[in-house]
Amino acid sequence: MATCKNCRKSGLFTKVNGLGVCDRCNSIINIETPPHFRIYKDCCSIIETTENPETLKNRLDLLKKQLEYFHTYESKGINLLTPSPSALFQTLESERDSYYIECFEKAFKTLAVKVTELKTKSSQVNRIEKFIQLIDEYKSELIDSSSLSGMRSRAQKLFDLYSA
Ligand SMILES: [Zn+2]
Repeated sequence: MATCKNCRKSGLFTKVNGLGVCDRCNSIINIETPPHFRIYKDCCSIIETTENPETLKNRLDLLKKQLEYFHTYESKGINLLTPSPSALFQTLESERDSYYIECFEKAFKTLAVKVTELKTKSSQVNRIEKFIQLIDEYKSELIDSSSLSGMRSRAQKLFDLYSA
């Protein structure tokens, strides 16, 4: 006798599929999952490519929300996502600082090019100053707030160079 892992329905005529769910639950999963999966994929690719820490922060939050959806099923033994949502939750936490470091690395490269294109010294200095402020603003998002100190001193050096 089969039991649906999702609604716990069981009976002589209950059939479950490869996921271990009945037809009715499977239809719900088929409707609900694709948008969550699409957002999940989008978030992953944006987290890897963005140079904007605000975008990174928003996408990390949004990704967590999608994982919560998948985790609800995981806790019932229904695996809709590989790696598992609980493994992904752990990765998100342990890699948190490196996402921010990568993001600021990219932003710093763009900044270094951008300042050479700016015409006046004050606009160059302002631009670098804003970047340093941005680092200070997002430090608190990190597990180890000193993770960005290397980046901050590089930006400070650039600032000193242009303000001299
Ligand atoms: Zn069911």
